[in-house]
Amino acid sequence: MHFTPPPGWESTKGFLSDREAEALFQAAAAAATEGPLLEIGSYCGKSTVCLAMAIGDRDSVVFALDHHRGSEEHQPGQFYFDPELYDEQQGAVDTFRAFRRTIESFGLTERVIPVVSTSERVAAHWTTPLALVFIDGGHSLDAALQDYRCWSGHLRRGGTLAIHDVYPDASRGGQAPYAIYRLALDSGLFEEIGRTDSLALLRKL
Ligand code: MG
Repeated sequence: MHFTPPPGWESTKGFLSDREAEALFQAAAAAATEGPLLEIGSYCGKSTVCLAMAIGDRDSVVFALDHHRGSEEHQPGQFYFDPELYDEQQGAVDTFRAFRRTIESFGLTERVIPVVSTSERVAAHWTTPLALVFIDGGHSLDAALQDYRCWSGHLRRGGTLAIHDVYPDASRGGQAPYAIYRLALDSGLFEEIGRTDSLALLRKL
């Protein structure tokens, strides 16, 4: 099975390339037989669709974790600020409406459980072993480190840690995702099983 983007997926706001989507889809399809999947940083749901479609009719779900207030780079005045995602009444970025629209429009509500909170708060109360964790949240070093530290322990043995925006070359992108990728490998707890564009896939030993 390959990831066949449903009509409209290409125009969904997000930062996942087609090649990365295919790699993530394959990893999620393999993991979905082992337990639930969790994504950190769902934004408008583009990668969530990919993960949910990978589940197919397997008995699994995607926990889609995001506070939906945007990361540092999505705030007004920042490089990735998108006025369409700014709620004037609230005076804040709100990606949850777009996220919900995305999931509903692709008929995936049964496979996706939105968790609207911070990574740290949710992780502190989490007890379910996860088959796949996809880290694509805040790209500051603090945020990336926190996501790695909060969630790597909730991955089951043999589970997949997927990290987006891994750029070994600093001229191509921020270094926080690469830092946690290195941290995971250097810990001896993970081995690399795939790299596609900026998507790194590690297996927990
Ligand atoms: Mg990303």
